[in-house]
Amino acid sequence: MKIKTAQLYPLSIPLKAPIKMSGETVTHANTLLLRIVDSNGREGWGETSAAPLMTGETLGSLLSNTAYLLNRIKDLEWSDPNEIGQLASRVLYSNASAKSCVEVALLDIFAQEKQESLFSFARRASGINTQEKPEPLSILRMLGGSLEQEITDAITLRAQGYRHWKIKVGLLGLHRDLERVAAICEVLEGDTVSADANGAFTLADAVAFCTSPLASKLSFVEQPIASAHPMADFLALKKASPLPVGLDESIHGLNEIIEFDESRVYDGASLKLIKLGGILPGVRAALEMQKRKLKLNLACKVAETSLSAAATASIGFAVNEAAWGLSMSNEYLEFDICDKPLAARDGLLHFEQLSPIGVGVIPSLTLVKKAASKEWGVIQL
Ligand SMILES: [Mg+2]
Repeated sequence: MKIKTAQLYPLSIPLKAPIKMSGETVTHANTLLLRIVDSNGREGWGETSAAPLMTGETLGSLLSNTAYLLNRIKDLEWSDPNEIGQLASRVLYSNASAKSCVEVALLDIFAQEKQESLFSFARRASGINTQEKPEPLSILRMLGGSLEQEITDAITLRAQGYRHWKIKVGLLGLHRDLERVAAICEVLEGDTVSADANGAFTLADAVAFCTSPLASKLSFVEQPIASAHPMADFLALKKASPLPVGLDESIHGLNEIIEFDESRVYDGASLKLIKLGGILPGVRAALEMQKRKLKLNLACKVAETSLSAAATASIGFAVNEAAWGLSMSNEYLEFDICDKPLAARDGLLHFEQLSPIGVGVIPSLTLVKKAASKEWGVIQL
């Protein structure tokens, strides 16, 4: 397979409501879509998103790095999907987000060539020998706004079937966060409820949070301290915490999965395409976590479109699990880039909701154009 043409669409899609995290407030999805057409006329799509505090990438840097990468690999002949990462790394160091964008678009075409879904293609490419139908993935919902709003949303969404939740903490001070967490956990008794600090706590506050009786009903606490902390701090936290510890900003691939597990400092992690460099590295990472009995959360960046949701879900369908849920973020967008946005059914995403061939979501060029960034223009290669 050879790339004939490629277009990069930098998008800025308003969110229904701003999402506040400890280090930033997100009002728009700053995300990049890639459309590749191969020499047989097949069209493949990829997506990657800005995440200054997770990957260091802005929309401008993603656009520039992905265009740079594509310019240097577009004349290659692609035959082995497992070589995509290696070949991309020969021309561009690091930059997992740009590489993921290109990998997903190429895999979309590879899967179409085989007339199969991307999760099924990813299974075979990763040596997972099963024809088993994947179980539906539980969708994790993020709560936000005032406490009254969070509780109203929790009750409404729970009635729709959602059972996995995330509360963002680290913004309001320890005591108020703990009171919020206790009040929300009370409403969501029996569900998987997590608190994500995005690394905002000091070690002392993280220990105080995790050992507080007000937090005792949480299922896990995500990234309580910043990734820059030394391993000794993660170990001290893990030893002190009665709650399972999840990591996100600290985990960018296999090396960290192994290093942090060998140091016995965590119980599970959040995997994102923007950190891992694509679906196949994502499947490898998820399999390594399964082997090590670490709990898996699959997550889109806040916020990405249905395309990234489908690509991220492909990892979960390939390995047939995501015990800590799938965080799709397209539901927070004012509008999506496809005619039938992915949406949970009874709190679950079923593989049958994805188109049976390829990545599973086909963007509409009309909607992609409507979502165009005012700051950055389309690049045609
Ligand atoms: Mg997180």
